[in-house]
Amino acid sequence: MCRKEWHTREDFLADRTMVMDGYQVNRRRIEEGLPPEGILLFTHRTKRCGTTLGIAASKFRFAE
Ligand SMILES: [Zn+2]
Repeated sequence: MCRKEWHTREDFLADRTMVMDGYQVNRRRIEEGLPPEGILLFTHRTKRCGTTLGIAASKFRFAE
C-alpha cells in the first residue's frame, strides 16, 4: 500500500492510475435479507503499488 491519498471523490475518480477492475456483492447481506451493498474494486496501477481497494458502491452517486 502506498501513501497516496485522495481528498475528494473527484480527485480519486480523476486519477488515471486507479483502475476499476471489479464489482463484488456482499453475499452475507443478501443472506440476511438486506439490500446487497456492492463493493467496487479499484487497483492502484503504479510501479510501486498495485494495491486493490474495495469501496462501498453507496459512497459513489454516479447520477448526481
Ligand atoms: Zn497505491
